[in-house]
Amino acid sequence: MHYLGRFFHLKKKLAFDGLYKSDEALVYPIESIFYPNKTGSPYSFNQLHPILFTNPSKIIGVGKNYKSHIKEFDSKIPSEPIIFLKSPSAVIGPSDKILLPKNIKGNIEYEGEVAIVIKKKAEKISEKNAPHYILGYTCANDITARELQKQDGQWTRAKGFKTFCPLGPWILPYEEFPRFQDLSLKTYVNNKLVQSTKTSAMLFNIPYLISFISQVMTLNPGDIILTGTPSGVGPLKANYNVEVEIEQIGSLINSVTNESKLIKNQLPQAKSEIVYKSKKSKNLIRKK
Ligand code: MG
Repeated sequence: MHYLGRFFHLKKKLAFDGLYKSDEALVYPIESIFYPNKTGSPYSFNQLHPILFTNPSKIIGVGKNYKSHIKEFDSKIPSEPIIFLKSPSAVIGPSDKILLPKNIKGNIEYEGEVAIVIKKKAEKISEKNAPHYILGYTCANDITARELQKQDGQWTRAKGFKTFCPLGPWILPYEEFPRFQDLSLKTYVNNKLVQSTKTSAMLFNIPYLISFISQVMTLNPGDIILTGTPSGVGPLKANYNVEVEIEQIGSLINSVTNESKLIKNQLPQAKSEIVYKSKKSKNLIRKK
């Protein structure tokens, strides 16, 4: 398998876009994730940490896209996709911390999801052409303040807090795995399996969603579509670890902390490498 992403070299203090060949355990520097031509000699994967690879102009979420999740909320099956926007300032990368905001009532919950990364500008495209606009897939966690979601009647605040959109660890290119119905999604909280599904269980499939959203708004390179969560959502507490695993990709692992525990200049920033101090890279491919 090969993957596209952004990597940080601890010793060299260097961040670069890379093509990760997992069977060789090498990462080749490339021009960008959108133009993956090699620009230099490879680094050993062991010397690197994956970091956030995109700075999206927007994140489009899809609600109620798995029957199992609709059932657990006693909700109606929608006749068209329910879409919402998530703030780009919510994005964090692999191993960054999810912050539990202060003074928020109710649970802050995980939602493991398959994310689509958009390859090129898309406007009013057909379902048939939609796969040409997919750069690839990655793991996402659509963190949600559940009480606020119910209270507000729309979801902008509940899903928009800083750190509420972990993404990564890298992108599985569409060409590498065109069988978008065969992605297997699992979520673990403190190593316990809490969500499990196949993308074939989606109500509206990936090309349909891209086409549908592109009728409404322009999709730009690097934009993210969160394709919905299956049943099994639940609360996150301080010091929990949450892992979203997609079988062909690997795992997105984030720990949870109270916002008040971090001083201001330690807040994770989108695209930042500052959170990568000296932590040894976690094993991002789960051992079976
Ligand atoms: Mg969701």
